[in-house]
Amino acid sequence: MTGHRQSQQVDEPAADEREKVAAQCRDCGAIYSAWVFADETVQPIGRKDGCRCGTSEFEALSR
Ligand SMILES: [Zn+2]
Repeated sequence: MTGHRQSQQVDEPAADEREKVAAQCRDCGAIYSAWVFADETVQPIGRKDGCRCGTSEFEALSR
């Protein structure tokens, strides 16, 4: 597994309980790559503070 990687943070442990999805901000509609966890928490990758508009609520889009 030495394929090309995007320059993104990889400081999170690998886990089967999450999936990488596209997520859309519920407020402004911006779309980010995000993790969705088993409890359906959606966290944009590399944006621990949430969206640029200040919202931290996202909706996972189709995988
Ligand atoms: Zn937003």
